Amino acid sequence: MKTVQLRSGEKFQPGKIIGVGRNYQKHIEEMKAQGGAEPVLFLKPNSALHKLESPLPVPSGFGEVHHEIELAVLISRAGSRITESNAADYILGYGVALDLTLRDVQSRAKQNGLPWAVAKGFDNSCPVSVFTPFVPQLLNADLEIALKINGQLRQQGRTSEMIFSVPFLISYISTFFSLEPGDIILTGTPDGVGPLLPGDELELSIENVGHYHTRVRS
Ligand code: MG
Repeated sequence: MKTVQLRSGEKFQPGKIIGVGRNYQKHIEEMKAQGGAEPVLFLKPNSALHKLESPLPVPSGFGEVHHEIELAVLISRAGSRITESNAADYILGYGVALDLTLRDVQSRAKQNGLPWAVAKGFDNSCPVSVFTPFVPQLLNADLEIALKINGQLRQQGRTSEMIFSVPFLISYISTFFSLEPGDIILTGTPDGVGPLLPGDELELSIENVGHYHTRVRS
């Protein structure tokens, strides 16, 4: 099983990664999708994890692989049916993640009413940074999210633009999936998603969380 790490060096084995789709209005619009009254959830397996700063092994032969920069939330302890007001007690850290997506595979799945398992859960589809310890001030902070590729700004947003907040997501998700220590929630991507190409140099940042460089394996 793959592990993720807190800045202190403490390691965790995520049993599951819960992705949230359609959580930023401008991304919903660029995907020509519809927002809903409830979050769209999907899962990535432990085998999807990859260390963000190690060159990204992006699959070829399955169409476009899109970057989606996202705030990742590391869960501290077990819980189900968590209330929004208690949600902060379940957060151990914030990290910077990429929700890599086989966009052409996903588009075909959508057209045919099929699940996103392959498009979202393939090997190494969840590069994630070391996690910064959570402090309560982060909960309502408005953090800038930015992704540059080869020096060009491609994605930029603010966590205040999330349709469903982190506490709401923890509460909603834990209604269906018991959360366990080490589980990760991917909170959705701002607009500007697009394909990654071999050799691309990525610069990822989330204010007060981390600033990282990585590249796509050639
Ligand atoms: Mg995403």
